[in-house]
Amino acid sequence: ISGEAGAQTAPRVQVRNLSKIYRTRRGEHVALDNVSIDIGAGEFVVLLGPSGCGKTTLLRCIAGLEEPDGGEIHINGKLVYSSSAGISVPPEGRALNMVFQSYALWPHMSVVDNVAYPLRNARASTSEARARAAETLELVGLGAFTAAYPGQLSGGQQQRVALARSIVSNDGLVLFDEPLSNLDAKVRDRLRVELLNLQSRIGFSAVYVTHDQMEALALADRVAVMDVGRIAQIGSARDIYDRPTSRYVADFVGSANEIAGRIVSSSEGVAIETPMGRLSGVAGSDRLAEGAKAIAMVRPEHCILASPGSAASGNQVEGVVERSLYLGPVVQHFIMVGEQQLTVSVSGGEGLQPGSRVAIGFAADRTRIFAA
Ligand code: ATP
Repeated sequence: ISGEAGAQTAPRVQVRNLSKIYRTRRGEHVALDNVSIDIGAGEFVVLLGPSGCGKTTLLRCIAGLEEPDGGEIHINGKLVYSSSAGISVPPEGRALNMVFQSYALWPHMSVVDNVAYPLRNARASTSEARARAAETLELVGLGAFTAAYPGQLSGGQQQRVALARSIVSNDGLVLFDEPLSNLDAKVRDRLRVELLNLQSRIGFSAVYVTHDQMEALALADRVAVMDVGRIAQIGSARDIYDRPTSRYVADFVGSANEIAGRIVSSSEGVAIETPMGRLSGVAGSDRLAEGAKAIAMVRPEHCILASPGSAASGNQVEGVVERSLYLGPVVQHFIMVGEQQLTVSVSGGEGLQPGSRVAIGFAADRTRIFAA
């Protein structure tokens, strides 16, 4: 009994010091460089990063579809990969399911048989497997489509079938490889919500690969931002977006105005002397010595527009409006401050006359300073 209670709190997946090197004719490529990450029971973790950073490789190593070069992986407390112990459990022995971008359904099998497939593989009787598959299809809103064939369904419906198949055996762990990227924006938005609803109902742990920043923020309990084979930062969506610890993360997730300068005081709050004047802010994780080259970063929506000469709140600079773009929910202003263009987003705002002078304020707690 104590074992069971322990299993509930133990992480579903533990990855320790994982490395993976691809060897090709052109040489060696380090795809994973000593990566460690825990995924808790019932936790939704998103691996986010630009193309080639190693997120798919990490997912495939967890799945057992790729053989790492070093490290350890535990799934449900069981050692499934260890370079030192010479253990490498094949995918079918790992108690997990995968959902791919391509759906990967059997075209010659009905929807219900596609979903029943993992249960049939695990030697359930046809009738029992079909009954559970039908229940699961009900959960993903496809109760009326059990007898259809995948080719008769839309992309979004096919991905729901793949989702049903991944949860039908209730292994507790689902790995997602960009599952929504083939779908149009509306269907994608809808399926994100459905996926989260399903996850809170069933409680599976998820590891989800995407290169889409907004998707990562929307879905994740924690986002792991990857940078060439390493995890650059892992934290809640809010941590990643509001408190990035590096220029890389600040720049990759969302957008930011970058203002270059030099550190002028690093004792009581960091300040940076720039061509726009002195800006104070919160430091990132970079160690910043006085005189060091640095970058202040402020997101467009964290800039506040004011009339020139108004009482300064925090850092204030003045500039000239170059152009305002109406984007529906926000208006995006491009403002020249000296030689540099800054972007300011205002929700529900009005366009500004090109050539008009404005002040831009950014609060110190919204301004992050990193080494250049
Ligand atoms: P994407 O979003 O483009 O899929 P990713 O972050 O998932 O990118 P991976 O597919 O994990 O990246 O690839 C990581 C690196 O390893 C890339 O530089 C890629 O070129 C390389 N790589 C991946 N698979 C192989 C392979 N089978 N042989 C050689 N190199 C590979």
